[in-house]
Amino acid sequence: MARDGHKYIFVIGGVMSGVGKGIASSAMGLLLQSKGFSVNLVKVDPYLNVDAGTMNPTEHGEVFVLNSGLETDQDMGNYERFLNRDLGGEDYMTSGMIYQSVIARERALGYGGKCVEAIPHVRNEILDRFDAAATFNGSDISVIEIGGTVGDFQNALFIDAARVLKMQHPDDVLFVMVSYLPVPGSIGEMKTKPTQNAVRQLNAYGVQPDFLIARSKHPIDAKRKEKIAIACSIRADHVISAPDIESIYDVPLNFESDKLAEQLTDALKLSSKKPTDLAAWKKFVKAVKRTDVPEVKIAVVGKYFDTGDFVLSDAYLSVIEAIKFSGAATRVKPSIHWINAKDLEKGNAAAVLKDYDGIIVPGGFGESGIEGKIKAIEYARTHQVPYFGLCYGMQLLVIEYARNVAKLKGAHTTEIDTETPHPVVAVMESQKENIAQGKFGGSMRLGSYPAKIVKGTIAHGAYKASEISERHRHRYEINPKYVEQLKEAGLVFSGTSPDGVLMEIAEMPKKEHPFMLGTQFHPELKARPLAPHPLFTAFLKAAAAQK
Ligand code: GLN
Repeated sequence: MARDGHKYIFVIGGVMSGVGKGIASSAMGLLLQSKGFSVNLVKVDPYLNVDAGTMNPTEHGEVFVLNSGLETDQDMGNYERFLNRDLGGEDYMTSGMIYQSVIARERALGYGGKCVEAIPHVRNEILDRFDAAATFNGSDISVIEIGGTVGDFQNALFIDAARVLKMQHPDDVLFVMVSYLPVPGSIGEMKTKPTQNAVRQLNAYGVQPDFLIARSKHPIDAKRKEKIAIACSIRADHVISAPDIESIYDVPLNFESDKLAEQLTDALKLSSKKPTDLAAWKKFVKAVKRTDVPEVKIAVVGKYFDTGDFVLSDAYLSVIEAIKFSGAATRVKPSIHWINAKDLEKGNAAAVLKDYDGIIVPGGFGESGIEGKIKAIEYARTHQVPYFGLCYGMQLLVIEYARNVAKLKGAHTTEIDTETPHPVVAVMESQKENIAQGKFGGSMRLGSYPAKIVKGTIAHGAYKASEISERHRHRYEINPKYVEQLKEAGLVFSGTSPDGVLMEIAEMPKKEHPFMLGTQFHPELKARPLAPHPLFTAFLKAAAAQK
């Protein structure tokens, strides 16, 4: 079933979740790519949701949309950012998706009268999808991260599929366990026992890890590497030190000090194409950490604030990273401050926002905090503070402009107010049926669409291009019936769909405001460390000039 000569690295977690399997996988992908191999990264999510689109970002983190329109886990964002390339829908799978295809085939008599079972039918479907991902990418190596922790009930079939692949292609498949070594406060010493047990648990599936990435507070010493080697039958030089570090972007560099790229290619019997070249990556890591550059204070006005800072940064992960990349590129140090939109509703927005150099309203849904966001936008517009609106943030920019400049009293989006006298943002024609029939999963306007950019605008100045392609995730749009009126009131639609029907970017003329711009798409999904997004860069430059 596997393609000849294609190599697979399976990444499996031990001891507990949240130890950084996604980043470890991304870093391995980058290292192998830096040696001249073509790599795709695959995420396996064992949950029964068919995709990540229906999950609340405060619980599950941001929904990351691929070019294909598939709504995925935030790990896919890290993969694309580390590899600096687009991945396909084939590179993401959930148990829900897999069972859905198996059941659909069964309903269509696709199993020729057989009893359909988890093994072999579901397992075969998994193997087919591993193969489809490799074929789609035409890559040399697939790094496949299996979500969850070894011993979970839900991911067992995926581990079993990987075992079968290893059995069929012993030289082409590697297993890497990312495990955790606690340092109990009372003892102050790094303990290996939980990891030893996790390896045994994996052994019970018939799988022996070839590498162990030892996540811990501190670097793992030679004595403990040896202990794990003996207890778990893993070569000591295959136990890789992975201490807590300042930035996730240090991880590949840290792995390189244990020569991980070479170790992996040796273990896969691949002749190294070239020495690992991380020059561009190192330059970026250095730039992102600079402290001798001016600070630019950015206020992010949003609503997913109820569960505290920890969850918050996950809900807006790509936005935060996009700001960082453009900060590194423009030699400023952006600091991000979270403003709860609900808090702005009651009080005086100016008092809260006066110390910031730029304001962002990111994507969102629903009513919560919406008037607070509109207040923040009004403040930015009337005080010449650079403003960048992402999706909902663009729709709200238009609503604020309609209400306060075009004097369309009570202007609103029909997402919130179906009775508004001026529905300047309205449900897309193509979405009406989905909503009426309760078809909410995977049915928004999703994925990459082209747009044309008007010359002489802020958007054109940033992109330096007249045609772009960006990723979307929305059901509502700027109501075509109001476009002329808004233009007459001075708003510029600097980006539209190629046929001119859908408004993709709204901005104020440069003469009137240094940077007042919103996008119907999500530019943050395409921002990369080695390819910062031009609109985030333009926004940060405007914010820095503000100081
Ligand atoms: N709620 C808005 C819509 O559906 C915006 C969506 C978003 O910000 N992703 O159009």
